[in-house]
Amino acid sequence: MHRIDIAVIGAGLSGLTCARLLSDAGAKVAVFEAASRIGGRIHALRDERGQALADLGPTWVWPPHQPVVAQWLERLGIATFAQANDGDAVIEGYHPAPIRAPLPGQDGMARIKGGPAALVQAMAADLPDGTLHLNRPITRITLAPDGLILTDATGAQIIAAKVVLSTPLRVAAAQIAIPDAPAAVLDAMRATPTWMAGQAKAVILYDRPFWRNMGLSGRIASRIGPLTEMHDHSAANGQPALFGFVGWPPEARDPAALDTAIRAQLTRCFGPSAPQPRSITVQDWSRNPLICTAADHAGAHPDLPPAILRQTHLQGRLHIAIAEVSTRSPGLIEGALDAGETAAATLLASATTDWGL
Ligand SMILES: Cc1cc2nc3c(=O)[nH]c(=O)nc-3n(C[C@H](O)[C@H](O)[C@H](O)COP(=O)(O)OP(=O)(O)OC[C@H]3O[C@@H](n4cnc5c(N)ncnc54)[C@H](O)[C@@H]3O)c2cc1C
Repeated sequence: MHRIDIAVIGAGLSGLTCARLLSDAGAKVAVFEAASRIGGRIHALRDERGQALADLGPTWVWPPHQPVVAQWLERLGIATFAQANDGDAVIEGYHPAPIRAPLPGQDGMARIKGGPAALVQAMAADLPDGTLHLNRPITRITLAPDGLILTDATGAQIIAAKVVLSTPLRVAAAQIAIPDAPAAVLDAMRATPTWMAGQAKAVILYDRPFWRNMGLSGRIASRIGPLTEMHDHSAANGQPALFGFVGWPPEARDPAALDTAIRAQLTRCFGPSAPQPRSITVQDWSRNPLICTAADHAGAHPDLPPAILRQTHLQGRLHIAIAEVSTRSPGLIEGALDAGETAAATLLASATTDWGL
């Protein structure tokens, strides 16, 4: 059986951060990712040349209030720019017709040049060749005398001295058999919502940011929907865009009906003579079984998870590192970086020269 110091399950930002730090410290690390790409909830809409045009997952960071984000952006040489918010917002659903009014922005809110996908790419860039294993869903983790045995969907097995579980916790509880884990750990995993997992995000590309010439910020706050809030999402490289969060519940998100309703909302809010979108892309995260379970459809605000999820299990060999277990910023990019850092630091503090294998 193939042997490795540390196996990381999940190549989202938390898993990659952990893998990067462990690998930098000299450990032999393998990252197993079920999907065909890295990044998890961080995902970009790209043009035909592969250039990121818009964020289909997270967009914002708050560097003045998020020291871990600020440190990694600096270390990886990634710049930010301010979220555009000049001009009036359009507010609909409170008066017979949409009205214009300024809406304040958030202190410190920033966007990443190239989007959070640039952070993910930079984090993974220095991993040694052969570290990342895509299309490798792990289905079972069992305790062996000298490590943990991981089994993937093909039945292939690998033994690792330590394992870092960096998958959404409800997904892990449903899809990865961990027969040696205490029931209280599995219960806590099932009870922990995955932030934004049930959301859908619409990215609307335009040929020009026409709203700015109308004195509008591109922001829409709506009680009618389907997009409950919308923001200017023009890229640092100039691709004009808006994005919005879909207010319809997962079971009501028929793609054709949603597209028609979004176009009608844009016409209501910007007027019939506003330019038509070049494209509308809806990323419905509730349909991604590697991120979202049925329990996440209701949505829930991230809370501090139970301490048991920040402890090690399976004789100190199983660590959990996913944004939701961070005490600093559960559920957010800051939390993913923090969770990855914390797991790596714990592992390095307990390291022996041969990792116990
Ligand atoms: C629409 C949306 C908007 C958001 N907006 C913001 C924002 O503006 N600011 C912010 O800070 N945060 C935001 N977030 C949250 C942010 O995306 C997350 O905090 C962060 O991406 C979590 O990273 P992670 O690595 O912890 O988890 P994930 O990104 O969920 O990574 C988990 C990985 O595990 C993989 N996996 C699952 N099962 C298996 C298996 N069996 N075997 C192997 N791999 C598996 C998955 O494919 C995935 O790659 C948003 C999220 C969404 C969805």
